Amino acid sequence: MVTISGEDRPGIMSALLDMLVRHDVEIVDVGQTALQKMLGLYFVLDLGQEANTGDSVMKDLLFKANQLGLTLNFQLFQPTEIEHIQNHNHFVLNFFGDTKSLAEISRILADEHVNIETISSTIHHGSRSIEMILNVDDVADLTRLKHRIMSKSRELKKDLGFQRQEAYRKNKRLIFFDMDSTLVDMEVIDELADRAGVKREVARLTEKAMRGDFDFEESLSQRVALLKGLGIEDLKAVRDGIRLSEGVEELLTSLKWLGYKLGIVTGGFDYFAEHLKNKLSLDFVYANKLELKRGVLTGKVLGKVVDAAEKARIVSQTACDLAIPMDQVVVVGDGANDKLMLGQAGLGIAYNANKGLDQIANVSLGYARFIHIFHILGITEEDMDEAVSCKQP
Ligand SMILES: [Mg+2]
Repeated sequence: MVTISGEDRPGIMSALLDMLVRHDVEIVDVGQTALQKMLGLYFVLDLGQEANTGDSVMKDLLFKANQLGLTLNFQLFQPTEIEHIQNHNHFVLNFFGDTKSLAEISRILADEHVNIETISSTIHHGSRSIEMILNVDDVADLTRLKHRIMSKSRELKKDLGFQRQEAYRKNKRLIFFDMDSTLVDMEVIDELADRAGVKREVARLTEKAMRGDFDFEESLSQRVALLKGLGIEDLKAVRDGIRLSEGVEELLTSLKWLGYKLGIVTGGFDYFAEHLKNKLSLDFVYANKLELKRGVLTGKVLGKVVDAAEKARIVSQTACDLAIPMDQVVVVGDGANDKLMLGQAGLGIAYNANKGLDQIANVSLGYARFIHIFHILGITEEDMDEAVSCKQP
């Protein structure tokens, strides 16, 4: 392994490569960073079996580096050691926060024996993300590491993503969103309850269900029963008052344009979810069906209840039907009944979520920070500008 550093200028790579070609040496791995006028470059070279090849290559490389005014260091490894060097267990950490919070996250990384291999920073969509490639070979307990940094990001109220570095990381294809308190900035059922004059009773039941304190199906039927007698005009009024979460429209327009399949899977109600599907041109919607008779709610839910298990089943079935591996599936949700589907997705995003989701999710996003999903998915502002201009006549 050869590392080279010094003042950068054109022609360095070419001069070094000429030297390697002359000695018939193959590059196994290479990396370079240049900042301002400073260069950092490394090669892993295969010197073959002959003992003296190494000596003459290194002699010539040292001479060339000296000529170019560069500092060169090298280390010899056996083939088995090289395999170990290359076979790293890598994670990617995206962080959205200030220096003080970055210092706190870095302290945990040091504490857990994580080695930071590269750091880069990107600014788009009015926010900056710091991306680190982490080597976790020496980490004793990955679950604990993940748990610690997710909890810390929550405590700091800074967004953070922690994903395994793999081929599909920036190549997601299917995204499912929860509806209430995720895609929309409200709990639709609370608005319905308000109209039915049962706001407090329903809010209490909703809160318990979101905490996972009792069976979702049971709680749903209790709440819907309280809505009995509401008319279609009430549903319409609530529908017209739906507030999308900040950044949702931009995000979905771009994702759509970029070819993602998008869906809603919600324990909320079909009447509202279908409306969002049309408004946002989504591909799928799965929701609970409110029974209406002569334009009045009967207080019953029709068909199979969409609860946590059903949400997870729908996500994996849809992925199956589209022949998309789960590694390429993203799920965004905020509640206890999103836990199962978040856990099985390639990327699970907890949006302004309660504590329990942090441990399952790869990404913890604060309120009104949908825009950060662009960074996590590796979508730049240029991608988005093109997407938005595409919509204009
Ligand atoms: Mg929700």
